[in-house]
Amino acid sequence: MKQSQLFTKTQKNAPKDEMSLNARLLIRGGFVDKLMAGVYTILPLGWQVLKKIEQIIREEMNNIGGQEIFMPALQPKENWEKTGRWSTMDDLYKVKDKSDREFALGSTHEEIISPLMKKFINSYKDLPFAAYQFQNKFRMELRAKSGVLRGREFLMKDLYSFHLDQKDLDEYYEKAKIAYKNIFNRSGIGEKTFLTFASGGSFSKYSHEFQTLTSAGEDVIHICNKCNMAINKEIKDETPECPECKSTEFREEKAVEVGNIFKLGTKYSAPFDLTVTNEKGEKTPVVMGCYGVGLQRLMGTIVELNNDENGIIWPETVAPFKVHLISLGKNEEAEKIYNDLEKNNIEVLYDDREDTSAGAKFADADLIGIPYRVVVSEKSLAGGGVEMKKRNEKESEIIKIDQLFEEIKK
Ligand code: ATP
Ligand code: MG
Repeated sequence: MKQSQLFTKTQKNAPKDEMSLNARLLIRGGFVDKLMAGVYTILPLGWQVLKKIEQIIREEMNNIGGQEIFMPALQPKENWEKTGRWSTMDDLYKVKDKSDREFALGSTHEEIISPLMKKFINSYKDLPFAAYQFQNKFRMELRAKSGVLRGREFLMKDLYSFHLDQKDLDEYYEKAKIAYKNIFNRSGIGEKTFLTFASGGSFSKYSHEFQTLTSAGEDVIHICNKCNMAINKEIKDETPECPECKSTEFREEKAVEVGNIFKLGTKYSAPFDLTVTNEKGEKTPVVMGCYGVGLQRLMGTIVELNNDENGIIWPETVAPFKVHLISLGKNEEAEKIYNDLEKNNIEVLYDDREDTSAGAKFADADLIGIPYRVVVSEKSLAGGGVEMKKRNEKESEIIKIDQLFEEIKK
């Protein structure tokens, strides 16, 4: 894409009312726009990043047998009354139409997917399976002050799994754990992300959160010094020793919850009478699990972990483009390299602006944070090629144009 065509512009300063680092950097780079606290528009550069994140998650969900669907955000009150959550879930947005009929804006989708599956499954032979979606969730977050980490409206991937018995759920749950680990490794935050015991709800002792260490996080976790499993502060008092290895030595850290997986048991299948007949011909409630990850929260966490004083430093796997090609002065060589990169399916943002100084172009490149910066100028051409610099390195080098393609394809 040509930068001269991009309708967004970078900004020297973030809005005064935006305190969080992730949102300040994302706004300044032109990735998101703040509509109000906790509600952000995703702009072209940000959408490129979210689509990369989405694709990583999609591949991992497909890999554990997930089938992709898309459920409505506008949901009948009756479904939420069936589970009792119409009155107990205090972050639920409720809307009324002209005829006084009430609806929920979905904050999660157990109330929709459980009755949905009742229409399709009857027998133990229909189990197990899992379905997931990428969809906007709405939550009445009263303290939306962590930038895109805590939205009132945000994209979530939510997967739901359906099983004949607890044993089958337990086995699937372990596979989901690995898929989640893969997601965070692939998006560049694996090293700082800890599997964490958290409160489980009514059907299991614990749920598992994936908590990423950052001062921007709103959670506190206690990491076991021996096995590196963590315990959420919320349950630490009731869990004095590590459930994994029984050690009692922990270090305390601030963290953000990037994912959460739950064994639901029959909590949602029971109210909707979601049952199958088992091998003996008896009716038995379906056993469920649910698995969530917030996309903007993941994007914001990546930004919190990967930046310097000049801007974002995207990991290659989620960067909006692989190459930021910058032409200094009008030169045909840059145009040719741009066309060749495009032809070779290498994602490139081409700074072809003619009225912008070199300094301003470099500042923009640092702010936007694309992994490879490639400058084409009279000077570089005289030196035999282009000047390449990685965003996370200080020094640039002049390389031949053929070599550039080899380097980037690696
Ligand atoms: P928190 O404790 O941070 O409010 P939660 O435990 O209520 O989150 P879950 O219901 O477990 O959230 O949602 C699953 C995932 O969705 C979370 O692990 C997180 O990645 C994401 N998520 C939850 N709330 C938000 C939000 N307000 N904005 C962005 N992402 C969110
Ligand atoms: Mg959670």
